[in-house]
Amino acid sequence: MSMSQIFHARSIKASCQLFLCDWCGELIDIGDPYESYRWRDDRDIRAVRCHPECLAAMCRTAQQEGGWLDWQTGENERGKSWNEERT
Ligand SMILES: [Zn+2]
Repeated sequence: MSMSQIFHARSIKASCQLFLCDWCGELIDIGDPYESYRWRDDRDIRAVRCHPECLAAMCRTAQQEGGWLDWQTGENERGKSWNEERT
């Protein structure tokens, strides 16, 4: 994932339905804030929703990994980048 391919990024102050965070797989509850964005890969446009702290962790991971990330939904730790998870 390149950060330059991200678009329609927005912050939602209070969710009006239940989601699972794409970064950590934990629940985003009704009334909780979350971040959402779309990004384009080779074939598709994908929508991502995650906790605000998970978006921050994702950005830190992208910096640590040189700007590119290939991660699976729910495999990461809430609010933690890959480096932080290992320590
Ligand atoms: Zn999360």
